[in-house]
Amino acid sequence: MEFKESARLYEEAKKYTPGGVHTSIRNLEPHLIFKKAEGAYIYDADGNKYIDYQGAFGPYILGHNNPYVNNKVIEALGRTDLYGTGTTDLEIELAQKICKHVPSAEQVLFCNSGSEATFHAIRLARAVTKRVKLIKFQGCYHGWHDYVARNMLSSWDMIGKRDPGSAGMMEEAIDNTLVCTFNDLEDVESTIKSNDGEVAALIIEPIPHNIGCIMPQPGFLEGLRKLCDEHGIILIFDEVITGFRHDIGCYQKVAGVTPDLTTMGKAMANGFPIAAIAGKKQYMQRFNTQPGGDVWFAGTYNGHAVGTAASIATLEMMENEPVHEHVFRLGEKMRSGLRDILKRLDIESYVAGFGSVFTTYFMGFEPKNYSDLQHNDAVFYVAYRRALMEKGIFKLPMNMKRNHISYSHTDKEIDYTLECIEDVLRVMKGK
Ligand code: PMP
Repeated sequence: MEFKESARLYEEAKKYTPGGVHTSIRNLEPHLIFKKAEGAYIYDADGNKYIDYQGAFGPYILGHNNPYVNNKVIEALGRTDLYGTGTTDLEIELAQKICKHVPSAEQVLFCNSGSEATFHAIRLARAVTKRVKLIKFQGCYHGWHDYVARNMLSSWDMIGKRDPGSAGMMEEAIDNTLVCTFNDLEDVESTIKSNDGEVAALIIEPIPHNIGCIMPQPGFLEGLRKLCDEHGIILIFDEVITGFRHDIGCYQKVAGVTPDLTTMGKAMANGFPIAAIAGKKQYMQRFNTQPGGDVWFAGTYNGHAVGTAASIATLEMMENEPVHEHVFRLGEKMRSGLRDILKRLDIESYVAGFGSVFTTYFMGFEPKNYSDLQHNDAVFYVAYRRALMEKGIFKLPMNMKRNHISYSHTDKEIDYTLECIEDVLRVMKGK
């Protein structure tokens, strides 16, 4: 596979943009310039074609350039766009849909990115509880802002320690965010007790997909709900990845655990920029979109016709077509195919996943938290992913991330991918 045109254009990109990319983790070798995307496929500037399992880190639940969604957006733009006052019919329709489907959503507000949604959720929780501290989990990602940007993909020696995610963060923000171990209720309970009456909110990815697919163990999410209730803490499910991907009612519907607030984004609009915060009416009414509300909520582009129309169309597809049935079936086929291959080749591994998401950890047991991932052979994963690229299979570039199957993937793509995986692993392991 050749990447000459990508390399040439990348030199141009770097002249005008630091590192030539507009999000930190996009800078990888070989540096690809993308030109086209359609359904389950993406194409680079050299004309190389890939089956896409990256799915832009999660939004593409229906696949790229979905005609139904695109047409709805074009149709909406034919008559409307954005207003500085009032409300659009599209905002009302989308809000109705979200409140109908998502158990925790009594009311909802739209913004433009997952980071904005988590920022607002935490600020609201602080206003409601009149407390400052926040609990998050090691390895979970909730966006780029200071409240949450600590202890994400920490180096092994920094697990659970004071690990700011960036230079320039407010010291107070780092220190007021407490870090717990996923799937460890005792750790959460003792953290709450040693900060008695000070914890405003607990924010969690109900399945931490930012480190692949670590499943909450039975009773864990229920236990968090109970602890939060007992200690007056606002429970925030960050469903930016899990929301709408795992169920039209989000993962909370599957788990049967209802948080106080939910943040959503990504699969909500199949790649168009929109996010949301939803929750109990008694809390949502504190936002100053409500007369008398005292929690600031604003955004020039909030509720733009592009995002709202795309999201309505995406949810309509989920309502009217077997989207989840399809992606869940293919997800299961991929995971069981992977397990068979890895067993046949006797490779130490654990195939994880839920629904449309799959991850192969090169380690011999099910990881239950970030710390367990020290056993994962990351160097091998990176070489494996690179070898698959040569065969036209595009997986997420980082060893701990997940892969996504969309409604545009078919048995053909899954079969081809499994064949390639077996070939690549045989060569790499000399089997
Ligand atoms: N929460 C989760 C769980 C995420 O995975 C992400 C993005 N990967 C965010 C929040 C932040 O969303 P955005 O990139 O849209 O700001």
